[in-house]
Amino acid sequence: MKITKNASLKSYNTFGIDAKANMLISINHEDELIDFLEKISDTSEIKILGGGSNILFINEQIEQAIIKNDIKGIAIVSEDDGDVLIQVGAGENWHDLVTWAVENNLGGIENLALIPGTVGAAPIQNIGAYGVEIKDVFEALTAIHLQQKKEYVFTKDECEMDYRDSIFKNEWKGQLCITRVYLRLKRPPHQINSSYKDISNALEKHKIDLATIKDIYKIVVDIRSHKLPDPNDIGNAGSFFKNPIINKEHFEAFISKFPNAPHWKINDNEFKIPAAWLIDQCGYKGKRKGNTGCYKNQALVLVNYGNAKGKEIWSLSKEIQKTVFEKYQIKLIPEVNFWE
Ligand code: FAD
Ligand code: NAP
Repeated sequence: MKITKNASLKSYNTFGIDAKANMLISINHEDELIDFLEKISDTSEIKILGGGSNILFINEQIEQAIIKNDIKGIAIVSEDDGDVLIQVGAGENWHDLVTWAVENNLGGIENLALIPGTVGAAPIQNIGAYGVEIKDVFEALTAIHLQQKKEYVFTKDECEMDYRDSIFKNEWKGQLCITRVYLRLKRPPHQINSSYKDISNALEKHKIDLATIKDIYKIVVDIRSHKLPDPNDIGNAGSFFKNPIINKEHFEAFISKFPNAPHWKINDNEFKIPAAWLIDQCGYKGKRKGNTGCYKNQALVLVNYGNAKGKEIWSLSKEIQKTVFEKYQIKLIPEVNFWE
């Protein structure tokens, strides 16, 4: 365990916001976490930090103690008929896990390559990209309850994972530190998901008929490296808002007014509208406001041009929500977690 007082959080968040923490505690094992929790009187306000790639620090000083989850380890737990159950420490880097899986020819998460952050945070918003979500391979997780100081096990059903959502963003929000995650990966023959155009176009371009998980991994890494801003160069937290999902009645009114709007049917009553398109149509793509703005290649990504305060980015996000709502009557919901 390492405790740092008045710690700078600049290198602990991909927005690169220069906030400070009264106390930052790095833990490498569940026992260290329990030890720490037992030493302090009020554990209700504690915050848990992973890779800081989905957080916006609004205040410049974070008063609550912050636990940096550094629990590591990747292990095969069991193997059965081509299914391989793995246990991963919550502090492992997500992309490193994907690379490990592909190197070991284990399929299921290759479409999720190059998503920043830790394994422990991945189930919280049910990370997803290119038609795959962690819930497709998720088995269970363990977590320590911060107030009760005891371990809970959550099975897949109990996590209630949905589009960029889970029980950890709702009922259990802020109460747990996820410690280990169990995933069920596959030995060959693999099921390849190339449903997104960027992937199918790349396969066509490289004349690959029978793609392997390694091909998909390489393609995703290549597309993402070109399309998204690298947080090391320009601060961002990926998509700032979720893609809105609206019901049939709302969709019919919307599409009759804006017939060229891109959309995806989720089921008979739900339709997804890309938030990037809505923001772009309101003139925000590439637009700069002081130290912040919307990225030139992807309007959904709000960026820090260098010295932005959390409040500036927050305030731009509010303005975008208002403008989009006035034009389209669609409410954008932030995907990023706000820390005050
Ligand atoms: P953090 O930002 O550290 O934390 C996020 C939230 O989870 C916080 O509320 C925190 O308190 C909580 N938390 C973190 N770890 C734990 C834990 N162990 N126990 C309990 N609570 C915890 N997301 C996608 O879904 N798909 C994408 O394709 C994608 N692309 C991205 C691209 C870029 C360039 C960036 C910057 C972000 C992208 N994201 C994407 C968002 C982000 O990478 C994911 O949400 C990721 O899972 C966040 O992990 P983290 O460890 O950085 O979490
Ligand atoms: P894209 O492929 O240009 O697609 C634009 C939007 O249309 C995406 O939001 C995607 O929804 C939707 N879409 C595209 N093809 C679809 C299909 N076949 N079926 C259903 N929906 C479809 O998006 P992009 O910006 O380059 O991102 C590529 C992938 O990485 C997406 O899945 C995106 O979610 C993910 N990503 C996420 C973040 C983040 O921070 N959350 C950041 C960057 C990229 P979905 O978003 O629902 O997939």
